[in-house]
Amino acid sequence: MPKTVRIALNRPLRRLFDYTVPEGLALTRGQRVQIPFGRQQLTGLVAETDSPPPEGIPLKPVTGALESWPALPPETVDLLTWASTYYQHPLGECLFTALPPALRKGRSAEVAEERFWTSAQSGEPLPANAHRQRALLDWLSDQPAPVSERAIRDAGFTLNQIKALADKGRISHAVPAAKHAIEPSPVAPPRLTPVQQHAAEQLQQVRTGFDACLLYGITGSGKTELYLHYLKHQLASSDQALVLVPEINLTPQTVARFRHYFGDRVVVWHSALNDGERLATWLKVRNGDPIVLIGTRSAVLLPFARLKTIIVDEEHDTSYKQGEGFRYSGRDLAVYRAHLNECPVILGSATPSLESYNNALQGKYRLVKLEQRAKKASPPTLKLLDIRSRPLEGGLSRPALKAIRETLDRGEQALVFVNRRGFAPIMMCFDCGHIVECPRCDTRLTYHRRDRAMRCHHCDYQTAATSHCPQCQSEAFKPVGQGTERTEDVLTQSLPDIPIVRVDRDSTQRKGSIQSILDRVNSGAPCVLVGTQMLAKGHDFPKVTLVVVVNADGGLFSVDFRAPEQLIQTLLQVSGRAGRAERPGTVLIQTCHSDHPLLKSLCNDHYLKIADQLLAEREANRFPPFRHMAIFRAEADTMQASLELLDSIKPLALRPGIETWGPLPAMIARRADRHRAQLILLSEHRGRLNTTLSTICQALDQRKLSARLRWMIDVDPQET
Ligand code: ADP
Ligand code: ZN
Ligand code: ZN
Repeated sequence: MPKTVRIALNRPLRRLFDYTVPEGLALTRGQRVQIPFGRQQLTGLVAETDSPPPEGIPLKPVTGALESWPALPPETVDLLTWASTYYQHPLGECLFTALPPALRKGRSAEVAEERFWTSAQSGEPLPANAHRQRALLDWLSDQPAPVSERAIRDAGFTLNQIKALADKGRISHAVPAAKHAIEPSPVAPPRLTPVQQHAAEQLQQVRTGFDACLLYGITGSGKTELYLHYLKHQLASSDQALVLVPEINLTPQTVARFRHYFGDRVVVWHSALNDGERLATWLKVRNGDPIVLIGTRSAVLLPFARLKTIIVDEEHDTSYKQGEGFRYSGRDLAVYRAHLNECPVILGSATPSLESYNNALQGKYRLVKLEQRAKKASPPTLKLLDIRSRPLEGGLSRPALKAIRETLDRGEQALVFVNRRGFAPIMMCFDCGHIVECPRCDTRLTYHRRDRAMRCHHCDYQTAATSHCPQCQSEAFKPVGQGTERTEDVLTQSLPDIPIVRVDRDSTQRKGSIQSILDRVNSGAPCVLVGTQMLAKGHDFPKVTLVVVVNADGGLFSVDFRAPEQLIQTLLQVSGRAGRAERPGTVLIQTCHSDHPLLKSLCNDHYLKIADQLLAEREANRFPPFRHMAIFRAEADTMQASLELLDSIKPLALRPGIETWGPLPAMIARRADRHRAQLILLSEHRGRLNTTLSTICQALDQRKLSARLRWMIDVDPQET
């Protein structure tokens, strides 16, 4: 009997495929193979090697292995197999997310060495009409060092021209000038403060085996400094470390701080890498090079060969949850991975998620606190500014504007937080009451004055802005509410001599633009920063001493059970940008609800006390983390089709210990002309919830559904 293996494919199929192994070929789990599939040859991954072959079905043989070694080591396969069951996502697609795009497509696992060229002293003469070849030769002779093929093409020449010159012996291959190695800086890092030192000792208590620490460090307490110190102690020269950061935090500022300690041991992993860079970094991870990898969410899935420790910075950040396809939480997988690896994991935040904090309270994680700022200043003072019946300009009250002026007069900087990009979230006619909506979604269009456009922030719809009401032609057609552009305009008018720097998704689209903005701010001259959430995340602005929150009320009355937690986290994170260096910081929070208990405790209590209250509310309502949640989502061309599909699976969910809500239309019921509904499942028993999900998935897989009707599962959803 020939041996058989089960192969996983990069397809949304909840099954594996059996093949025989040709004589003389040894295959292990995680290895890449080529297989015949219908008329095609596909790349697959060996998922199981010792399963009994199915009876009575003739099997085809594997065509061959792509490498002699497993692309995914056992620990990575175990992690993804677990994740596939936990998140109910097809195993093949889960496993393939751990491969770089080049390897998914079946390319070879080698980094193509780029060729470098230099002009030769000899060679055949060029034909008289070969102007471009002559130009290339002249250009190359002017270069001080050999030039890569890519750089030659970037300079406007073609591969054909390179080849023609090489054939004539006019240019030759050359060894590139040695790449400049980045050495750790010889400047000694700052000494830890006594409070940091104490936390460092607690973190280092457990050095081997699984150990999860929740590091609660208030903003500016020096968590990054502590991570660096910790890694320095924890890592032997041959070890690998993983540092997860939210997307926006992967700015050169963060990377530079790590390079300062670890030199070119530091490598990065994020969405802006190209396929070649991804493959090169992936190979370092897989080969066990002793790297410190700083990466966003998907870095947690990489095939580390010698992972010694994991850090998740800003662990509360919602960008750790993948929003489509394989909907995993990078933070939660980091903890599970530490389990598998028997290594420590640190989750750090000034505003820990209620899930992680609850785990600490239950003794699953050790809680390490860092409650003092690293530099002299104490935490900022938060004040509520009631704006009921106060005149506002661009959303700013007079006292707020006055405070901004005073801050600038002292030679300091101010930051204004607005939770919406664009000019105004609504355009409304004051004669007929018409409000401009997206024709494809159940949302309003945001007015972007810079581009004279009305845009939907939920689909890609946009249309030209008009000065008259499209319904009744009235001129009383006006923007309502605040966006970053509007606040920027008002500040520019009231402070004509001061640079106003806007930071939102629109102003930072160009690569590197966020960095030039940060450089400008950190040069220290007085300025006002205006921006969205992007400003709330982890930045260190030593000169900012005043933060103004234009409106805090959005999250106070939302139906989403996570809204209060997210509001407090955002407000504390943005507040944390104030007074990080020597001078004290002040935060003014404009609100129409200054007697709201949540806002009051924001000003008076520290985060963990507020978290205790929020957890008590969650417990009273049996919301996560006191029950586990999963959502079945459906989308179709009509709401009826979506609701019918969910109604038809609901009976399968009606089991003891499982509560169902819905099906109901989603919060934004229509998005890009698709009608969306959801069925929520809640249970105290993770295992029972998981089996129920699995039963429903299998039942749905059996059905022939129209291609226009789609369904998906979201386990531990961040959005309801
Ligand atoms: P967090 O990540 O907790 O918000 P950071 O690590 O960014 O804090 O530190 C805040 C500021 O304090 C940074 O400018 C950092 O360089 C500085 N800092 C941190 N620890 C020390 C220390 N032990 N001595 C001097 N400066 C420090
Ligand atoms: Zn009108
Ligand atoms: Zn839309």
